[in-house]
Amino acid sequence: MTTLKIFTNDDIWRDTAENRRYGHLGTCDREDPSIRYDKPGKTSPLLAVAQELVTSTHRDGNEPRIKLSTSHRKPEQRLLLQGHTQEYLDRLESASMVAKERVDRGGVAIVPFGKEADVSPGTYQAALSSVGAALDAVDSVHTHPHTTAFALVWPPGHHAEPDQAMGFCYLSTAALAAIYARDRSPRATTNRTSRVALIDIDHHRGNGSAAVLANQPDILLIDQVYRSPYDDTARRYTDGIFDPSTGLYAGAGKEYPYTRDDTSIGARAHPVIQAQNILHVEHEGFQSAETLITKFVDHALPRLIEFQPDLVIWSVGLDSAVGDPLGGLGMTPDAFYTLVKGCRLALPNARHCGILEGGYEPVISAPCLRTTLLGFSEDEEEVSVASFERYAHRFVKA
Ligand SMILES: [Zn+2]
Repeated sequence: MTTLKIFTNDDIWRDTAENRRYGHLGTCDREDPSIRYDKPGKTSPLLAVAQELVTSTHRDGNEPRIKLSTSHRKPEQRLLLQGHTQEYLDRLESASMVAKERVDRGGVAIVPFGKEADVSPGTYQAALSSVGAALDAVDSVHTHPHTTAFALVWPPGHHAEPDQAMGFCYLSTAALAAIYARDRSPRATTNRTSRVALIDIDHHRGNGSAAVLANQPDILLIDQVYRSPYDDTARRYTDGIFDPSTGLYAGAGKEYPYTRDDTSIGARAHPVIQAQNILHVEHEGFQSAETLITKFVDHALPRLIEFQPDLVIWSVGLDSAVGDPLGGLGMTPDAFYTLVKGCRLALPNARHCGILEGGYEPVISAPCLRTTLLGFSEDEEEVSVASFERYAHRFVKA
């Protein structure tokens, strides 16, 4: 029977008086500072989902099949330096210290730092603990057979590049976890290199993961990404327009980071990183869950099967779910389950762990997290999402 171990860095992130003063406070919207998509307490509904699953899947007299614990781990500096520059790490740490000094003097805690990535007193520690929980997740699947793991962490990491924070991300958590898994796995220590696949199913581009992992041996990055329709003549995107009256973006789908200039808002293109070990699975315009699954099976799955990873790390961005205010690619709770469970069936020799990335409306994210965790925890013969049967054969045959 599969055991799912969930690790959270929630003690740093919890909405307490101490954390409201010294914690990681999230990033302000530049148009309206009262808007924060990653404010304290955001993970609470997600934590509640995990707690409910622990209870509801526990049968009397048996070991719990889903376990939840708080990680207190911090990554070693030498691992951080495989993804980031020393200068950047120093800058991030000192920005957090500046924020704390400002709070102590009675000032404002939020210090502008990166692109859509402000720093507050607890930001550096929270980012470190996200990486630490991800490493605990990797270790537990390496150490115990029949185990999957999930790092239920905040802040996310897949936009963080070697020398810049972006999009609520500060440290490149999933990429660092992939490097750690490759280099420190039991297989690596017995001279059998471990192959690691990172599958990023966030709505937005995993530009930070790509920047860190490009041309890394024995690591494959599959990056599912949304591209906004673009008007070449006007040099602007035709959706993703921020509406200050609602605090939301108009239209389905918002490309991030921008990969072409948008003259209407003065945004400069952020280059897409191309490398042999990176597969960009791109979707243009709103796509249904069915289309997303089909495209994944047709394009990503053959590459994964050819690669035969020992470990699969999932960057689970729940903002690709229908209705997310900063995303909304078309994913549904059933589709998250189908991708995770389908890949577990298609790659029976690989171990799997997930790391939380984006997701900006808890009411939408929570049911998606629930089915994702079920996808990680259920055994082959158990199927709790009926529509999975429609797709199962495609994963097995592929
Ligand atoms: Zn995202």
